[in-house]
Amino acid sequence: MTDTKIIDKEYVANTYNRFPVEIVSGKGSYVYDNDGKEYIDMGSGIGVTSFGIADDVWQNAITEQLSKVQHMSNLYYTQPCAALAKMLCEKTGMKKVFFSNSGAESNECAIKVARKYAAEKKGAEYSTIITLVNSFHGRTLTTLSATGQEHYHELFQPLTPGFVHTPANDLEALIDTANKNKTAGIMMEIIQGEGGVLPLDADFVKGVAKFAKENDIVLIIDEVQTGNGRTGELYAYMNYGISPDVVSTAKGIGGGLPLGATMLGEKVEAVLGFGDHGSTFGGNPVCCAGAVSIINRIDEKLLNEVKEKSKYVFSQFENADGVEEVCGLGLMIGIKPSKKTAAEVLKVCMDNGVLCLTAKDKVRLLPALNIPMEALEKAVAVIKKAIAE
Ligand SMILES: *Cc1c(COP(=O)(O)O)cnc(C)c1O
Repeated sequence: MTDTKIIDKEYVANTYNRFPVEIVSGKGSYVYDNDGKEYIDMGSGIGVTSFGIADDVWQNAITEQLSKVQHMSNLYYTQPCAALAKMLCEKTGMKKVFFSNSGAESNECAIKVARKYAAEKKGAEYSTIITLVNSFHGRTLTTLSATGQEHYHELFQPLTPGFVHTPANDLEALIDTANKNKTAGIMMEIIQGEGGVLPLDADFVKGVAKFAKENDIVLIIDEVQTGNGRTGELYAYMNYGISPDVVSTAKGIGGGLPLGATMLGEKVEAVLGFGDHGSTFGGNPVCCAGAVSIINRIDEKLLNEVKEKSKYVFSQFENADGVEEVCGLGLMIGIKPSKKTAAEVLKVCMDNGVLCLTAKDKVRLLPALNIPMEALEKAVAVIKKAIAE
């Protein structure tokens, strides 16, 4: 073991079951370990490095800002924060943005907005937030409560009250739950990421949006993983033609620096007032300058490339030897192997120079949005072989 691995094992809290690989450098979709071994990166730091490792445009944007001002408190104006908020609103039709540092925090803000909106409009007892079974919304105690997977809850009681979970793609059950509770909001991922790369049915998504609108319930779409070009649209809800009240995102928006964004639509744009919410680091100028460079480049051309590459990956794995199922959207793809576990496939891929992720029983692929075709072809060949063997 290298010094890093030994020291890490001794001193870093034991929450991550790390792979035995130490990454020391990279460029684009290629990364290198401490022995100089090359890997194609099909995980992008869990959908974070949208344009790959040490991308030039992003790096220039952040270093330029770094040499001007790296942080001011939110007591002052800074240009990158304002510019990013404007850009996000113009591209989505949302009205206002609250910036934080992570996906969990972007969901915390969304939940606070839904509760305050309902408290003022319908009464404080309207506090229930409905989420879906098998969802993932974060690791803080409140977003853990929102997460519809019991095994995350067991040892951390009592959780934040006021969350109920209903099965995905069952509109009747959701409406029944909403009517039985005093409901403030409904929160869901368009594709359940950690839950196994499971896209929701279009009819269900549209049905929920219609029901939420008719009943003045705040509809929150968690786009932490699906957002920022990942599915072939800027945000995944755009694939379904709905207009959420709140969109939360993080991961890929910062291109590798921590940034969360909670976008507020017309219905809730005025809900948060002075002192209702805040963050020391949220909207950090360096993170925002990087994000401006990322969002700027997610244009029609790039989104079409994402769709094309997606088609290629689907066509390669559908009906391939040892593949039970391929699911997902854009460059968020899950592959269920039938001969091995996903973890076993990952190990073989790693030995052969390709880094993938898992999600439940699937091999999960979240490559950089601009992964070169050549790297994608090489990686797909390695993964296919690992699954078929
Ligand atoms: C990763 C993820 C989160 C949590 O984000 P953090 O930045 O780890 O707090 C929340 N929701 C979804 C859908 C995610 O994929």
